[in-house]
Amino acid sequence: MFKLGNITCNVGEKYSGFWKIDNYNIPVTVIYGKNKGKTICISAGIHNCEYTSIQAAIDLANEFTPENINGILIILHTINYSGFFKRVSRIVPEDNKNLNRVFPGDENGTISEKIAFAFSKYLYPQLDFFIDVHGGDLFEEVMPFIYAPGIGEKEIIDFSHEVASNISLPIRVRSKASTGAYNSAAIQGIPALLIELGGNGNIKNENLIKYKKCLKEFLSYLEIIKYNSSEKIEQKEIIEAKYLESPCDGYWYPKFKAGDFIKKGDILGEIKDCFGNELYTFKAEFDGIILYQTISLAIPKDDPLVAYGKLDK
Ligand SMILES: [Zn+2]
Repeated sequence: MFKLGNITCNVGEKYSGFWKIDNYNIPVTVIYGKNKGKTICISAGIHNCEYTSIQAAIDLANEFTPENINGILIILHTINYSGFFKRVSRIVPEDNKNLNRVFPGDENGTISEKIAFAFSKYLYPQLDFFIDVHGGDLFEEVMPFIYAPGIGEKEIIDFSHEVASNISLPIRVRSKASTGAYNSAAIQGIPALLIELGGNGNIKNENLIKYKKCLKEFLSYLEIIKYNSSEKIEQKEIIEAKYLESPCDGYWYPKFKAGDFIKKGDILGEIKDCFGNELYTFKAEFDGIILYQTISLAIPKDDPLVAYGKLDK
C-alpha cells in the first residue's frame, strides 16, 4: 500500500483528493499501476501562476489509469493552492515566502517551510524520481529548457542528466542552487529535474501539447508508460549561467527576447526611474542565450531581470 500523510492508495487504485500538511491542503492524484514499476512524482504549482505546467499535470492525472501505467505515479496538481486563488505571484500568501527557496524546510517553521519539510521527510524517500514543473511567472517569458541538478552524489546527478537528455528540449542547464524542491531532492539522493515551459500567465495550446509530450518522454524513459516520441533533438548543456537581479525599484526595458542569442557586451536591458532617467545598464558578460527574463515595465528591487547561459562553441 502507498501512504503519504493522510492519503492511502492500493495496487490497481487511483486516488484523487488532498494531501493535508498541517491545515494546508494540496490537491493530489495517486495512480497505483497494476504492473510493477518505479515510483515517480510530478509536482506542479510550487509557483502558482505558472499555468501551463499546472494544466499539463492536471491533464496527465486525468489521462493515466492503473491499467495504463507501471509503478506508482504521484501528481501534485497545485502545491501553492492558496496562492493560486489569490493570483499572487510566486509566494505563499500565508507567510510571503517563495516555496522554492525554503527546501529542505523546517518542521517548526512557517507553512512554506512545513510543506518543504513534509516533502523532504515523507515524499522524497518513497521516490525513484522527482520532476518539478514550472514555466515562467505572470511577468516572465522563458525559452523551453530543463534544469538538472549540479549538487549531490555523482550517480544521482549523472542519472538526472541522462533522463533530461531524453526529453526533447533544446537546452539543459546545470543548476548550482540547493534550496529548490528538485535541488533538495537530488541532494537527498533522489534523481530530480525541473522543466521550464510557458509563461506570461497564459496557456498557449502549442505549449500545453509540448509540455505533455515532454512529460510523456520522461515517463517513457523511466518505463512508467509506453510512448514513442519521434522527435530527436540535440540538447546542449549550459554549465555557466548568469542570473541578474534588480538593484533597485525601477522601470525595466529589456532589449532581447527569451531564446535570443547574445554576444558579449550586448546591452540586455536598462532600468530607468519614473521620470525616464537612466539608472542602470546591463551588458552580457559572455556569448550565450537568454533563458528567461522579466517583461513587465515594473521591476522591484532584488527581483530577477534576466537569466542567460553560456553556450560552448
Ligand atoms: Zn517557477
